[in-house]
Amino acid sequence: MIYADNAATTKMNKTAVAAMMPYIEEFYGNPSSLYSFGQKAKEALENARAVVAECIGAEPREIYFTSGGSEADNQAIISAARIGEKKGKKHIISTAFEHHAVLHTLNKLEKEGFEITLLDVHSNGIVTAQQVKEAIKDDTCLVTIMYANNEIGTIQPIAEIGAVCKSKGVLFHTDAVQAVGHIEINVKEQNIDLLSMSAHKFGGAKGVGALYARKGIALSSLINGGAQERNKRAGTENIPAIVSMSVALREACDNIDNHRSKLTPIRNKLIDGLRTIPYSELNGDRENRLPSNVNFCFEGIEGESLLLLLDDKGICASSGSACTSGSLDPSHVLLAIGRPHEVAHGSLRLSIGDDITENEVEYIIQAVTEVVTYLRNMSPFWRDIQNGRYEHILSE
Ligand SMILES: *Cc1c(COP(=O)(O)O)cnc(C)c1O
Repeated sequence: MIYADNAATTKMNKTAVAAMMPYIEEFYGNPSSLYSFGQKAKEALENARAVVAECIGAEPREIYFTSGGSEADNQAIISAARIGEKKGKKHIISTAFEHHAVLHTLNKLEKEGFEITLLDVHSNGIVTAQQVKEAIKDDTCLVTIMYANNEIGTIQPIAEIGAVCKSKGVLFHTDAVQAVGHIEINVKEQNIDLLSMSAHKFGGAKGVGALYARKGIALSSLINGGAQERNKRAGTENIPAIVSMSVALREACDNIDNHRSKLTPIRNKLIDGLRTIPYSELNGDRENRLPSNVNFCFEGIEGESLLLLLDDKGICASSGSACTSGSLDPSHVLLAIGRPHEVAHGSLRLSIGDDITENEVEYIIQAVTEVVTYLRNMSPFWRDIQNGRYEHILSE
């Protein structure tokens, strides 16, 4: 099997699995307890916090562990909204191609009377700092823009956006779930106030993540109860998962240069190989994207059929995002970059991992080419296009 769906989730690093085991089998105490046995767990928690902080250039006390990226996104946005509300500022700026954890939270705030501006995304999958600057108003309390898009992998000009937000005195949150552990991040240099991350996107356990909140930003609790996480996130901490997260993140951060230099040429080879399929197009900027991400539209194809046939050939990939597959709506990300509905339905995301081989890349190119040709030959719609009844949307 070739696993090319690392943007959906990753295999846990062996070192991360090994590191969490003692906290399951041996040091299972509650970190809030006073006896020394529980203090072992407490120490592991604080060590993990320091590691996570260091990897993004933050201080340990600015890191709050959560149940994952979705919770961190929710808490960041709700907190900034509550801070804004107190000052009578109820305008939030985001983009049309955010993850649903962001978009659905914004919908909820809109129903409460917040005004939401979703910036248009350019056809290359990037928003600019200039767009952000022009959208900021006197009552803007938050700008929330993802670091790297989970479907098309495009990387946003985060430092420039951070600088604009800082100069205007507006809080800046970034959903960095696809970026943390994959590309360098420094929250201080990039003027990031709030940042979300998730362990299972970089080789850690599922169901654990973190929110970075610059000191001085008063977080609102989503979960009420005990005094864990400096009173901002109640519930006994998942120590084994948190330990796995810190070990995986340290490894990922130490490996960022290798990751980039190994995967970039492989990614480009995949892009060049798939582009030889007629009426196909890469989604998102070719250069300014994650080293692991390839996303294509193929005219005349249903993404679902493509995935099932690739599965038969032993390839795990995705079309749209994992959360939306199963629904008939095309990806909101592809619509946001201007792909028409017909074409947005025929998308393929390959998100490769560090262990991919040259042979596997060749196999993927061959398999996708075969499957696309097969599906087109079966499609009455494709025949109509060939006969000139409809026009092609993509170029040959
Ligand atoms: C996966 C993902 C999330 C959600 O993270 P979970 O830990 O699965 O809740 C949020 N944002 C982006 C960009 C993601 O890729």
